[in-house]
Amino acid sequence: MRSWHGEGIWYGADFNPEQWPEQTWVEDVALMRRAGVNLVSVGIFSWALLEPAPGEFDFGWLDRALDVLHGGGINVDLATATASPPPWLAHRYPETLPRRADGAILWPGGRQAYCPSSPVFRERSLALVEAVARRYAEHPAVVMWHVSNELGCHNVHCYCDVSAEAFRRWLRDRYGDLAALNAAWGTAFWSQRYHDWAEINPPRTAPTFANPTQQLDFLRFSSDEQRAQLRAEREVLKRLAPQPVTTNFMIGTGIKYLDYHSWASDVDVVANDHYLTAADPEAHVGLALAADHTRGVAGGDPWLLMEHSTSAVNWQPRNVAKTPGQLRRNSLAHVARGADGVLFFQWRASRAGAEKFHSALVPHAGPETKVFREVCRLGADLRALAEVRGSRVDADVAILFDYEAWWGAELDSHPSVDVTYADRLAALHGALWRAGVTADVVHPSTDLSGYRLVLVPTLYLVHDADAEALRRYVEAGGTALVTYFSGIVDEHDHIRLGGYPGAFRELLGIRTEEFFPLRAGERVRLDDGATADVWTEWLHPEGAEVLASYADGPLPGVPALTRHPAGAGAAWYVGTRLDEAATDRLVARLLAESGVRPPVPAPAGVEVVRRRDADRSWLFVINHTDAEARLAVTGTELLDAARCDGELVVPAGEVAVVREEAATDRPIAAGSTAGVPTAEPPVDRAAEPA
Ligand SMILES: [Zn+2]
Repeated sequence: MRSWHGEGIWYGADFNPEQWPEQTWVEDVALMRRAGVNLVSVGIFSWALLEPAPGEFDFGWLDRALDVLHGGGINVDLATATASPPPWLAHRYPETLPRRADGAILWPGGRQAYCPSSPVFRERSLALVEAVARRYAEHPAVVMWHVSNELGCHNVHCYCDVSAEAFRRWLRDRYGDLAALNAAWGTAFWSQRYHDWAEINPPRTAPTFANPTQQLDFLRFSSDEQRAQLRAEREVLKRLAPQPVTTNFMIGTGIKYLDYHSWASDVDVVANDHYLTAADPEAHVGLALAADHTRGVAGGDPWLLMEHSTSAVNWQPRNVAKTPGQLRRNSLAHVARGADGVLFFQWRASRAGAEKFHSALVPHAGPETKVFREVCRLGADLRALAEVRGSRVDADVAILFDYEAWWGAELDSHPSVDVTYADRLAALHGALWRAGVTADVVHPSTDLSGYRLVLVPTLYLVHDADAEALRRYVEAGGTALVTYFSGIVDEHDHIRLGGYPGAFRELLGIRTEEFFPLRAGERVRLDDGATADVWTEWLHPEGAEVLASYADGPLPGVPALTRHPAGAGAAWYVGTRLDEAATDRLVARLLAESGVRPPVPAPAGVEVVRRRDADRSWLFVINHTDAEARLAVTGTELLDAARCDGELVVPAGEVAVVREEAATDRPIAAGSTAGVPTAEPPVDRAAEPA
């Protein structure tokens, strides 16, 4: 297989020539060259044009489009074009249409109107992949394959009869016999005992709560069905073509039901789509979380930002445009956090269709615009950063993340609807961001030994082996923090008996006998001055030291924050939803205890991340504030090609990337902060007023 890496950082967009007359393609390629674009994704939504009738292919226009791109030196990430079936598929084979839990059919006219378990869809889509791969495997422009597009974005859960049959097959593989399924699903409750596989269905709309383990298994099955499409397409491509294979994940944009940690081994390069949450004025912090999670899915290796936006999108309630400089900050923040490519949806803004108000590299107003000027500037930036390609990101902190724990934590009939999985994840990651500390967001089965600190937000469902791995990590000298509603159930969603948080009780040296969720809007005070809401619990220390207790609320005097020395390390627990300032203070204490420091001290709102290879390191400094920032850095600033000796000045809203000199003189140890010139303890910095 060929490498997915180019000579530098990939830069480009989805290019949809089928939306435009061919004379526009020539202008497009000239503009791409002006902007420094070197990679475009082509053909993603072109099935209906490539195969106008079953088995009749029309590749003429795509041949010409690829030749025009190649003539201009533009590389191609070629789509398998299976992202959305043509209208003829549903017309001829209506059984391929997906159904909702209530039986309603999801009709064509949007996109992804297919049942993920449909054998007809599978057969037709693989025939297309085979035709495309045979035709273009040797095309000199093609450097990568792009399977489908955002698999499962709209059709992840299908409740049709075909899917029901596939679900039964999946359950037989998982459990072997009905006795095991009945035990796992707890069917002794509510008279649900199954005596025949044919009695089992997906969790279709029911009079009341469906069996939680049935729901959980259906979510696992559904993620696996989408993954099966990826694997089937990949198999065809691997048989016929030498280029690496990817597909675009959607990590960190609220997509919940695709277990990307399990999918990572099915792609040659992890690629992600990320869009800002327009309603969040601090959306760049969420961007950092998405990038850190994508890197975690990629096992720390460089990855590809397959899509983001130059400005507004079209699918949120209020689609906020990016202010001058924001496109650059967003793009380079992804590179700082491990992206070796920056691509967008899409090259030229559409005239028609559902996404015509989605921004692009070439807006409706044409190239004489803020957006296109910034696009050209970013192209120059990425050329200047070519040497960063292939390097990895320094991170001493891990945050554990498991899609199954997310699914489990947010099932229905739980103690409080206010407990959401993303909440503590974002809170802890946000506190690290404000402290200037980079974290990898990784699956609980990841080797944790290289990290100084491990944060465990809301790991409601945990496998025995993963709980045991956390215990070994702490006993070997690590520091860990576990938050409330973690370790509650096993992989079948069965309560771990004997007191909460079952899986982590001994490690944490505590035992909770009862949850005391709070009413909407209710707040409690702690005796260390913190406030909290949403959740409290009746917790008994069993070896843990009490660091703070409730001062009021339903449980005055009961511990809320504990620390348990275990082996050579320590395991902390927080049993309530601390406010932001208290979360920052808690994280600062954990960083101090575990000896984690930011790469370089920086003012609040200035993001600093370090990438490193065998003998060099680069400091990315992104100034999100309205004020100039000064940092103690020595090296060569690459974007402006200027020296900085001891002081780096980054104007308001700007970005700097410095090839460091001090850092390269020091020995490099994995998971260490070697080369930090004058780092202050993070505890001081986090305590500064915002
Ligand atoms: Zn179906």
